[in-house]
Amino acid sequence: MIENQIIARVRNEGRTWLTEIESKELLREAGINVIDTRMAKSKDEAIRLSQELGFPVVLKVVSPAILHKSDAGGVKVGIGTAKQVAKAYDDIWGAVGKKHPGAVIEGVSVQKMARPGVEVIIGMSKDIEFGPLVMFGLGGIWVEVLKDVSFRIAPLTRRDAREMIREIKGYPLLEGYRGKESVDVSNLEDYLLKVSDFVERNPAIKELDLNPIFAYSDSAVAVDARVILESLQNGTRR
Ligand code: ADP
Ligand code: MG
Repeated sequence: MIENQIIARVRNEGRTWLTEIESKELLREAGINVIDTRMAKSKDEAIRLSQELGFPVVLKVVSPAILHKSDAGGVKVGIGTAKQVAKAYDDIWGAVGKKHPGAVIEGVSVQKMARPGVEVIIGMSKDIEFGPLVMFGLGGIWVEVLKDVSFRIAPLTRRDAREMIREIKGYPLLEGYRGKESVDVSNLEDYLLKVSDFVERNPAIKELDLNPIFAYSDSAVAVDARVILESLQNGTRR
């Protein structure tokens, strides 16, 4: 199974963090729709991959030292031409190098630009007492400023998933607000259940973040993913 292969490879390299691309690969295996994302190790490769994927694209820094890529100047969205890819590539290296001198940059991820939707997040963290906790919320200020999120202990039931989505204050935004597209909520329930299954199946996963997922009236796609493994030092050898 690909899941185990990816985790084993990361372990072999002595890492506990997965790159955005590895994280997305894992989550795709778990049945979550993720945006097509490739790794570029050079500017030429970034241009070639952009042309293969089709414009517009997004470029992001890939570095184990950088968890918040946009804070580091490491995300460029809406890139429409090969020339803009070249500039975005240089800008990312420049900005990240300045903000995090000495950080190892493995390359740049290239992905298709998702069309605008309602941004939601799904996460998992572990509670010492209760084990895996699955989180749901709306993206952006809703989670950062208003902390408008809901939690349930895994494994989730369909009812848990239904309730989690409906109990956040921002829920009306998912039902379509001021002419905005309404969101396929049962599809998001499926994603919560899939994440719950996935973390139950993989106890080595310590933390997981899909932030954001763009939700639409007929589908949803994760554009950023982060998976962190338990470290092996403190006895959690699983
Ligand atoms: P980080 O969370 O590490 O700062 P993200 O990958 O989440 O970086 O990118 C920052 C923001 O850029 C996202 O919240 C989203 O709004 C936008 N974004 C990222 N990837 C895409 C994409 N493929 N299509 C459209 N927008 C994107
Ligand atoms: Mg993000």
